Amino acid sequence: MQSRWNSQDADRFIQDAVGAGWSEALGLRIYTSRLIGQDPDLVLHGGGNTSVKVDSGGEAILHVKGSGWDLDTIEAPGLPAVRIAPLLPARSGGKLSDPEMVALLRANLLDPTSPNPSVEALLHAYLPFNFVDHTHATAILALANQADMRETVARIYGSRLAYVPYVMPGFDLSIEGDRIFRENPDCEGLWLENHGLFTFAATAKASYELMIEFVTLAEAELARAGATPDGPQASDRDSDAGLLERLGSALSQGGSPFAKGLAMDFRSTPAIRRHAAKADAGEIVSRGTVTPDHVIRIKPFPLVIPAGATSAEIDQALAGYIERYTDYFERNAARASEPKTMLDAYPRAVLVLGEGVIGLGANAKAARIAADLLEQSARVMNSAEAYGRFKPISEADLFDMEYWSLEQAKLKVALSG
Ligand SMILES: [Zn+2]
Repeated sequence: MQSRWNSQDADRFIQDAVGAGWSEALGLRIYTSRLIGQDPDLVLHGGGNTSVKVDSGGEAILHVKGSGWDLDTIEAPGLPAVRIAPLLPARSGGKLSDPEMVALLRANLLDPTSPNPSVEALLHAYLPFNFVDHTHATAILALANQADMRETVARIYGSRLAYVPYVMPGFDLSIEGDRIFRENPDCEGLWLENHGLFTFAATAKASYELMIEFVTLAEAELARAGATPDGPQASDRDSDAGLLERLGSALSQGGSPFAKGLAMDFRSTPAIRRHAAKADAGEIVSRGTVTPDHVIRIKPFPLVIPAGATSAEIDQALAGYIERYTDYFERNAARASEPKTMLDAYPRAVLVLGEGVIGLGANAKAARIAADLLEQSARVMNSAEAYGRFKPISEADLFDMEYWSLEQAKLKVALSG
């Protein structure tokens, strides 16, 4: 992966920020956040987050990605400013619930009308670097979703990356990531098992280029094993119109969340077809999502149907999906500490064996976002299976993410875009 840093572009972002009364640092933060956001092999659709620390009249302030913003189009209001000092006691003050963490962050916003700071804002605040970048890069995910990678990560990166075993995003990851950083104070980034990568540095350029360097090292490890992931590919085949019509009719019957509107986004690329043609494709996709965030948009597993499926085959597969999803909910809700309400049991993703994937949503945007995640997921799974075995987070961890109170609000978005 190449750095796309360009000094003239960086200068332009600095001038724009200063002209608007912002700091140079915030201008550079916007610039490299967009560089990251514009590469689908680094982050997709609201994934990842970035921050910068600035001094404002002697007070340390964190600008961190706000919820509802995408890195590729981020602007200053998408990086709400939070006072850092009042966040520090939470580091050693015992577990905060999600609402308590959000309340703490919101109480320390400079502008109370700002969006909620990222759920990873505390980790950004605690890491003692001006610039912090977090991505879900394709090559990293192919390696992060393997069993027992601690020694391999040490072999590839030496002590430059500290290894963070899987932990729930949000408060738990903030506390654990900070603790592991302090045990490894010379590291330049954090490897998040089953999740992605953090880098940090004194300058925007250095933090961004560390991200590119670490992703490039992951690509080299995959290449060494003959498991180089494909890059993003455009869909090059038309959908089977009859199949989509039969599927649409099954998915939008009364009682379905799609009864009032259903959009389907079919994708078929060489990489997706390789994925969909594997003898065990249905089993591979049932293991889980390539990064925890994805479960919010595409649920823990897709609906799997044969190419050219008849209406009867689709009805049978959908009934099986609803039963499996209901069982998943009941099994996991039983161990939750608070009562959970089941979301609709309909899929947001379809694997058409041998042919392609379909993103589902209540409108075209939601379906497109789901299909984009499925396109990257196919490339991650192909690479992970070529390297070893694709092994994402457990069903219990998927459930905790899908039914996380902070993410429930986003679920309406997952349906409607
Ligand atoms: Zn993440």
